[in-house]
Amino acid sequence: MKECRICGRDGTEEDLCEYHSAAYTSLKSVFEKWAAAVEELTWEKYIDSVRELENTGQWIREIIDDIRSQDDS
Ligand SMILES: [Zn+2]
Repeated sequence: MKECRICGRDGTEEDLCEYHSAAYTSLKSVFEKWAAAVEELTWEKYIDSVRELENTGQWIREIIDDIRSQDDS
């Protein structure tokens, strides 16, 4: 079992714990809905928008920060 790359809890088969894994899954499923409704929505624009929402939960914020830190080039 791997440790979660974000919080260090015991992970699942991925390198995310069940909480961060669930947050990532829900982030992706909402993106698919938004992408169907909003023209030219990119993944990066989407996660930036979600990050700004006041009611975005802590797990989701941490996943987004993690994704962004990997994207830095
Ligand atoms: Zn975690």
